[in-house]
Amino acid sequence: MSVTHTSRAPDLLEEVDAFSAHNYHPLPVVLERGEGVWVWDVDGNRYLDMLSAYSALNQGHRHPAILAAAQAQMGRLTLTSRAFHNDQMGPFLRELCEATGFERALPMNTGAEAVETAIKMVRKWGYEARGIPEDRAEILVCENNFHGRTTTIVGFSSEAQYRRGFGPFAPGFRRIPYGDAEALERAITPETVGFLVEPLQGEGGVVVPPAGFLKRAREICSAHQVLLMADEIQTGLGRTGRLFCSDWEGVRPDVLIVGKALGGGVYPVSAAIADSEYMDVFTPGDHGSTFGGNPLGAAVARAALKVILDEGLPERSDELGSWFMDELRSIDSPHVEEVRGKGLMIGVVIERGSGTARPFCEALQARGILAKETHGQVIRFAPPLTIEKDVLGYALEHIGAVLRA
Ligand SMILES: *Cc1c(COP(=O)(O)O)cnc(C)c1O
Repeated sequence: MSVTHTSRAPDLLEEVDAFSAHNYHPLPVVLERGEGVWVWDVDGNRYLDMLSAYSALNQGHRHPAILAAAQAQMGRLTLTSRAFHNDQMGPFLRELCEATGFERALPMNTGAEAVETAIKMVRKWGYEARGIPEDRAEILVCENNFHGRTTTIVGFSSEAQYRRGFGPFAPGFRRIPYGDAEALERAITPETVGFLVEPLQGEGGVVVPPAGFLKRAREICSAHQVLLMADEIQTGLGRTGRLFCSDWEGVRPDVLIVGKALGGGVYPVSAAIADSEYMDVFTPGDHGSTFGGNPLGAAVARAALKVILDEGLPERSDELGSWFMDELRSIDSPHVEEVRGKGLMIGVVIERGSGTARPFCEALQARGILAKETHGQVIRFAPPLTIEKDVLGYALEHIGAVLRA
């Protein structure tokens, strides 16, 4: 990778350092263009994107069908607020309900907002349908969870850094160990209304729970009138080799939370999805968002969803993911403790004795492969689901060289 004339990168990095809050620690690469699985930096170097914006780019960068839908909609109408109707939101919600098998969906923008929506829905259902005494509704969550960054959500995180300095936090949440269904059953009290869970923990380090956990959690929730709330913001929409990760165990949650890839890498679109029995606790004025359900976002999400279904992205993810994971496991590396994941959501865990995952990500960057460490020890590989097998093979050569070094 040669830099032929003065690079703009140092100035751009310095500018961000000067003017941005220091709430991230990105790899020092400044991108200016993307197409499919590839991105280019300001010096013209090409990289393979193996993070996909934390799975918000399952369809790849600038998918033509999604761009066309966005451009067409921008030529018509972009924002109405929910004070008026628009002609995109209804079709979007119908298509989302048809794809997921639920009766209603409430559109928001970011994942954290969809999680907040689910929390409000489940609590209100607890008071109205189950007669929980005022302000006593409790939601169980898991150790090592990640559900977003609002003060309510970080308040029930087990990650010290996510919480430190940001209290006081909202009450009404209790943590149980991840993957332990019996602990879930023991933790349930008469005031428990919901169990919020990631079917596979992404930010927590690509943690796969024991087989049967979600299925057992489903049975326990049903037996105790506790609503199962599946946060599929990262695992959903094909990422793990099924349309939803819950599908692996044939589990239908009561509340399904989606985001990230629903916006096709173009626009933030999220939703809380449930049957009317639960969703209808909301009445006009209870909840909302100025941009939620806007026609531009709705048109983009319709196209984003259509690409996932039409191009069979869950099946691609399943097939390519199993092959890729086998290949990663066959790399003879002194640094690798474990390779784990489902579909194309894969974590390579680096041995503590070999340091953190960060230097490995930097070495991959130097070879034109962009991946990001999570939880210190884990390199996450989550390329766009549109990736071709030979491109994964190309990635494997570089990953193998870095891991064997
Ligand atoms: C990314 C993520 C969120 C938060 O989504 P934002 O759009 O960043 O607010 C919530 N839950 C999970 C599982 C996620 O991966």
